[in-house]
Amino acid sequence: MKSSEPDSKFIKIRCPKCKNEQIVFGKAATEVKCLVCGKTLAEPTGGKIGVKARILEVLD
Ligand SMILES: [Zn+2]
Repeated sequence: MKSSEPDSKFIKIRCPKCKNEQIVFGKAATEVKCLVCGKTLAEPTGGKIGVKARILEVLD
């Protein structure tokens, strides 16, 4: 049986502040900020990422 690893995928998120769409790695070890307005979109929480923005899509 193969275990799924959703954390190792790329996630497309949208900044709630400026609507910029950005792709982040689901296992990011550092804080991810919006490239446009600098708002924190995601931060590492014990191994996987805590997304503070709207997830639009999970990419394989
Ligand atoms: Zn933004």
